Amino acid sequence: MSTKLKRVIDLISSLTEEKIVKAIRKARFGEKYEKLHCPHCGSSRVIRKGRMRHKSYLQHYYCKKLRKMV
Ligand SMILES: [Zn+2]
Repeated sequence: MSTKLKRVIDLISSLTEEKIVKAIRKARFGEKYEKLHCPHCGSSRVIRKGRMRHKSYLQHYYCKKLRKMV
């Protein structure tokens, strides 16, 4: 197995769901979560709406324009 491939496999196996979620959130909303915007309609009328009970890092967002969770 090549060193490069091994490195990729090591990286993937070190990823937890929490790390992935945080990376997605960062890509979606930027480094700071202050300027929230809806990934569907681009509206800034997005509010945080609770977290999952067992996975507190999973933040729910609600778009007031689309009137749905985004
Ligand atoms: Zn929206």
